[in-house]
This record gives sequence, structure tokens and C-alpha cells, in this order.
Amino acid sequence: MFDGLSGRLGDVLDKLRRRGSLSEADVDAAMREVRVALLEADVALAVVKQFVAQVKEQAIGQEVIRSVTPGQMVVKLVHDALVDMLSGEGGVEAEPDPMSLGIDIAHTPPVPILMVGLQGSGKTTTSAKIALRITKRERKKVLMASLDVYRPAAQRQLAILGEQTGVDTLEVVMGQKPVEIARRAMQAARVGGYDVVILDTAGRLHIDEVLMTEVAEVRALVNPHEVLLVTDAMTGQDAVNVAQEFNEKVGVTGIVLTRVDGDSRGGAALSMRAVTGVPIKLMGMGEKMDALEAFHAQRIAGRILG
Ligand code: GDP
Repeated sequence: MFDGLSGRLGDVLDKLRRRGSLSEADVDAAMREVRVALLEADVALAVVKQFVAQVKEQAIGQEVIRSVTPGQMVVKLVHDALVDMLSGEGGVEAEPDPMSLGIDIAHTPPVPILMVGLQGSGKTTTSAKIALRITKRERKKVLMASLDVYRPAAQRQLAILGEQTGVDTLEVVMGQKPVEIARRAMQAARVGGYDVVILDTAGRLHIDEVLMTEVAEVRALVNPHEVLLVTDAMTGQDAVNVAQEFNEKVGVTGIVLTRVDGDSRGGAALSMRAVTGVPIKLMGMGEKMDALEAFHAQRIAGRILG
């Protein structure tokens, strides 16, 4: 991800760095190129506009162009605007430790984490990845439960991943509704002394009322500390639209972007925070169970700008 954008921005910024002096027109020209690079990377138009306006205003307003190294200063402004865009303006960086997931589990156990998203986004895989990390790193006891009553295969998949990772899964009882399974999972967790319960909700191919109502019901029942929306980075702006809808209808505390290992142009990653106001917390970097990373704005900005 980001290869195309990184190359394009690298060229624009290299040119700027080499300049001894800069006029307002030079900044304008560079920002036009930055704008095109961001749009080609599939970043949402409103986000691009805000980004370019911020850099221009600061470059001109703070007399950067009359400074000793104007090119360098503009490059820094671009870097900072990128970090703002990724983390929310003035956003606090997440835990810098790459193995820490920055997920809120410091509460009275069992702490419920609700996983939501469309079918095929990587929800079940991510549930198991998170469960494994919490088990290994935080040394917490985790129980996973599949609330997907529409696809028995989904319940089996979670059970298989549970076996692979050594994480317990709730016994499947046919004929129960998602809310009933969620209640049973919380009870089993209390009785069994589990610290964290990961509830993998059903996904559909498209957002629909039934899905949203069902997720909202489960949410109301378990009162989760984290509602993590899993979205596929490869779907670009669609992922951003999905995030917006889920956040409006269910409320989301964090986004997990999957398939970041693929060759998506990165627009979803770059637009998500600014459009939805919800932070991207994690990135899925592959199919393997350890392919999960915290999303750090500084590190990503560094990766893009080289
Ligand atoms: P769900 O329907 O949302 O539960 O999606 P799954 O967890 O079943 O994932 C669908 C497919 O995507 C599976 O083949 C996963 O192995 C794969 N997958 C999930 N996350 C990632 C990721 O970060 N990178 C890659 N390359 N594949 C992933």
C-alpha cells in the first residue's frame, strides 16, 4: 500500500527541497501536484481540499517561504498535515510499542469487544488475531464467540481458528439468536474467569437494516468497551462509506483496516479518520495470525514520505 502515492509525493517534495528560494506561486504549483497525487491515491476529495488548504495557509501565513530553508519547511508542513490527517488534528499518538494493540481492556472482567463489519472484510480472522495477541502479550484469558447464526461455516471457522491459536471459543448451540449467544458468552466468561470476550458478529455483503439492528441490540446488551469495525483497505472509498454508516448507526470506537499488505492505493487509510472521526487502531498485514499491527500516524506518514 502507498507505493504509488509515496513515489509521487517523493518527486514533488524532492523538487521543493532542492530549491533555495520559494515564491507563493511555487508553493501553489507544488500543492497542485500534491492534490493530484492524493486524489490518484483515492483519498476523499474533502480530505484532500482540507489537507492542501492547511499546508498552503501555514506555508504562506507563517512566512515559511521567506525562511532560510523554505523547501525543507514546506516538506515538514506536508509531513505534519499527513500526521494530522491520519490521527485527527492534534491527535494523541497511540502507544508507540508496535506489539501493543492500544485496545481498551483495562476494566472489570470480562471485558467485551464487539467486532463488526461486512462479510469477507476479515472480521473472523482479525478476531482471532486480536485474541491471540491479548492472550500472549497481556497474558489474559480470552473467550471468542461467533454470533453469525446465518452461516454455520463462520461459526466453524472461528472454532478452527480458536484451536489453531489455543484460544477458547464458546460452544455452538444451534437455534439461538445473536443476542442470546452474546448473553451466554458473557455468562460463560464470568463463570469461567475470562478477562476478555471477543464477539464476532455476522457480516452481510451489504449494509442492511437487519444487520444494523442486530448489532445495535448486541451492543446494548453487552455494553462493549471497544466496538471495532473491520474494513478492507482494498475497497478504497467504499470502506470509508461503510465506516461512516456503521459509526452513525451502531457507534464505532476503532477501525481495523485489513489487507494493508495488498496493493491498494491507500485512500481508505488516509481518508478514514478525517471523514468518520473514528481512529484507525489496527492494520491487518496478511493472513497469518501474527500479521496484525497497531496503526501509528507518525510511522505511516514516515513510510509514505520516505
Ligand atoms: P469475515 O467474513 O469478515 O469474517 O472475513 P474472514 O476473516 O473470513 O477473511 C476473509 C479472507 O480474508 C480470509 O481468507 C482471510 O485469510 C483473509 N484476510 C483477512 N485479513 C487479511 C489481511 O490483513 N491480509 C490478507 N492478505 N488477507 C486477509
